Formats: sequence, structure tokens, C-alpha cells
Amino acid sequence: MSTIADRITAVQEHIAAAARRSGRTPEQVRLVGVSKTHPLETIRQAIAAGLTHFGENRVQEAEAKIVALGREREHTTWHLIGHLQSNKAARAEGLFDLIHSVNSLKLAQVLDRHVLEKEKSRKAEEESSFSSSPLRPFSPSPLLPILLQVNVSGEQSKEGFDLAGWEREPTVLDAFVAAVEQILALPALRVRGLMTIAPWGQEPELARPTFRATRALQSELERRFPQTEWAELSMGMTDDFEIAIEEGATIVRVGRAIFGAR
Ligand SMILES: *Cc1c(COP(=O)(O)O)cnc(C)c1O
Repeated sequence: MSTIADRITAVQEHIAAAARRSGRTPEQVRLVGVSKTHPLETIRQAIAAGLTHFGENRVQEAEAKIVALGREREHTTWHLIGHLQSNKAARAEGLFDLIHSVNSLKLAQVLDRHVLEKEKSRKAEEESSFSSSPLRPFSPSPLLPILLQVNVSGEQSKEGFDLAGWEREPTVLDAFVAAVEQILALPALRVRGLMTIAPWGQEPELARPTFRATRALQSELERRFPQTEWAELSMGMTDDFEIAIEEGATIVRVGRAIFGAR
């Protein structure tokens, strides 16, 4: 039976090969191990095998694990990849290094408000100048790094800003651009790119158009909002991460291939 360390190595090799196929180096693609439903003990094994980025889809479950990690937390980076309800935004903001699942203007506004409130009380407490937070490697400042989750496939079950057919439908793109404009104006958030989930349960190759459309959307946003970096593309899971990398993914979210079935 293969160990977690073996499986991480195997995934890393596939990532490296796909990165080279897309004209990039393996270091340009970050592996997030999706540890949802798996216990802390399993996460510790993955850490011992060299994995440093972890993804969870529920705030409460992640909080229990992250708190129990204790000081090891400092050497790990945590990604929220699942749907975030507004009433959990305050906790999520304090817990995660990167929130992939910002899927509405309203959620962005709620997150922004929580970061500002926390910063205000922190400043009142210490009355010293900001220092950069070591817990936020995606951001050199107290700003909260986020990705905008987009649904380019139009699949009903997918969360995300509705961008189905955006390349042909100017009104679809216009609605998103209007929301992006307002999100970029929020002072406490730092938009780092896009996240998408390909339609489930089909041939991996059929995910390619979803990834390609997401990358094209990234280029469109770079053109319209050049002051924002738009560097990250979070796309690809166990069944389709190699295709996602070929299409430009910078972050892949891999669960089963590392941790086994859920
Ligand atoms: C569960 C999940 C993953 C990981 O899926 P696997 O198929 O186990 O690799 C990736 N992204 C999101 C958003 C998820 O919910």
C-alpha cells in the first residue's frame, strides 16, 4: 500500500511534467492538499512528508484542525475552498491565508468590513505601526488575499459569479466587471486571481474548455484592471489537475490522489 508521502511525490511528479508541458517550471504551480474530512493525524503525516499548503471547505472543521496544530500552524498555509456563508466570514478571515471562494459582491463587502474592524481594534490595542503578518504569505500586508470564484460552465450546481458564455454575451461580462470594480475598491481585500471548478463526473478532457475560458477571463481582467495582479488561477482537482496546469493553473487543489477516498 502506498503511503501519503508516496502519493504526494507522485502528484508532484505529475505536476512537474504538466508544468513543463505548459512551458513553466514546477515551482510555478502550487499544490494544495485538500484535507477535508481527514483527521489531523493524517495532516501531520502530510506535513512530515513536506506538504505545506492545505485546503478545507468548511470553516468549523478547518478551525478545529488549525487550532489543534498549535505552533506547526506557522509553517503551513491554509486555503478556504468551499462556499463561505456571510455569518462565518469573521472566523474565516482570521483563519485562512487565502480565500478561494468569494462568489458575490456582498460576501466581499462583509469580509472587508471584518478585516477593517479587526485591524481597528488591533491598532487601538497596540498603538504601534502595522507589521506584515507572517500568517499571510499571499499578501505582504494586513490585507486579506482572496480569489474570485467564477462559474464559466453554467452548471447549476456550481457556486461562483455567473460567467456562462461571457465570451459571446457582453451583458454577462459587464455584470461581472461592475462587481469586480466595486470589489477592487474595497480597502481591506487583495484580489489575487480567479478560482473555478470544472463540471464533475465526466471525462477529464471535457474540463479543458472550462479551464481555458477561465484563463481567457483572467486575461480580460488583466486588460481592464491592470493595477491588479490577477496572478493566481486556482483550478484542477484529482481527476483533472494535469489538464488545468496545461491550461495555466497556478494552484491545484488535490484531495483524493493524496489522502485517498472520502
Ligand atoms: C473537495 C474539493 C477538491 C478536491 O477534490 P478531489 O477530487 O478530492 O481532488 C478541490 N476543490 C474543491 C472546491 C473541493 O471542494
